Amino acid sequence: MDMWHDMEKYHKGKTPEGHDKLVIPLSPDEDGMVGRECHQDECQPKYFKIASHKPETEKQVEPNQEETSLEYLYCPYCGYKDGFQQFITKGQSEWVESMIYRDVAKTIQDMLGDTFKSSTPSSNKGFISISLQYKPGSLPSVRHYAENELKRIIDCDRCGRRYAVYGISMHCPFCGEGNLALHLDKSVDIIMSLIDCYDAIVNKAGKEAGYHLLGNSLEDCVSLFEGFFKIIYADKLKGKVSEDDRKDKLSKLRNSFQQPSKAEQIFKANLQLDIFSSIDDKDKTFLEYQFAKRHVITHNLGLVDEKFKDQVSTWQTAGQEVHLDANEIKQLLNLVKRVIVATIS
Ligand SMILES: [Zn+2]
Ligand SMILES: [Zn+2]
Repeated sequence: MDMWHDMEKYHKGKTPEGHDKLVIPLSPDEDGMVGRECHQDECQPKYFKIASHKPETEKQVEPNQEETSLEYLYCPYCGYKDGFQQFITKGQSEWVESMIYRDVAKTIQDMLGDTFKSSTPSSNKGFISISLQYKPGSLPSVRHYAENELKRIIDCDRCGRRYAVYGISMHCPFCGEGNLALHLDKSVDIIMSLIDCYDAIVNKAGKEAGYHLLGNSLEDCVSLFEGFFKIIYADKLKGKVSEDDRKDKLSKLRNSFQQPSKAEQIFKANLQLDIFSSIDDKDKTFLEYQFAKRHVITHNLGLVDEKFKDQVSTWQTAGQEVHLDANEIKQLLNLVKRVIVATIS
C-alpha cells in the first residue's frame, strides 16, 4: 500500500536517520514573494517576505528553485542568521501539516478498507458470521494558506535582491547588510509626495483640508525622527551594554524621541554620540519649534497654548490656530533626513 498519496510528488527519499523526506515548494504570491518568519522570542514583528528570484532575472524559475538553494537568511528585524528552512512561517507550517495529515488519513482509510474487505463472512459452522462493510469518511481538508500583504518592498543596493517588511528594518535578509538608508529614502519620498499634494487638496476640498494635510505631514516628520532614532538607538546599544540593561533603557524611552533635545541628551549620555553634529544651532531651534507645533496639532486641536508659548518664542497668541506652511514642513523633512543620515553613516 502506498504511504503517500497527494504528497508523493514531494517525497524525496529518506533522511540519514531513516525518516521520510518531503520537499514542498512554496507558491510565490502575486508579487513573486514567499513569506518567512523569525523565531527569536525577542524579535518583532518577525514576518517578512523574500522574492523568489532576482528582479533582473527575466527567465521563469521553478517555484522555490532559488530560495531553497539559499543556504542562509538573515532576519531583517533582529539580524538573526539561520538556514532558510528555519524561517518557516506559522501559516506555512500549518498548511504543510494539514497536507500530511490528509495523506496519512487517506493511508489509514485504505488500510481499514483492505482489512474489512478481507473479513468476508464465514460460513463455517460453530462461528458467528458477521458481514462488515467499511465506508470511508471525508478526508480532513487542507488548510488555506496565503502570504500577508506587506507594503514596503525594498531592493537591496548591495546584493540586488528584493524583499518586503513591516515598517523599518535594519538588515537585508539575503546579504545581511544594513538597509536603513534605503528605508529612509522611501519614507521621505512618501511624505514629500503627500506635501506636494497640498495645492491640489486646497483646490479640491478647501483650506481646512489643506491645513489637515500639513498637520498630518508634520506628524509624519516627527514619527520619522522618532521611529528611526528608536531603531538606531536599539542597534547601537547592542554590545555596548548588557542585554538586560539594553531592554531597560529601551523600555524607559517611551516618547522621549518626540523631543529633539531629549533625544540629543539620551544619545549623549548612553552612547556618547552627538546626533546634531551635522546641523547648526539655527537648524536645531527650527527643529524644536516644528516639533512643538506637532504637539499642539496632536494634543490641542492645533490651537496655540501656554505650554507651546513657553517652549518656543512665537508671535502667535494662545487660542490661535498654529501656523503651518508647506515649505517649512519640507524644510523640516529634509533636516530630519540629514540628521538621521549623519547618525547612521
Ligand atoms: Zn528576528
Ligand atoms: Zn542585500
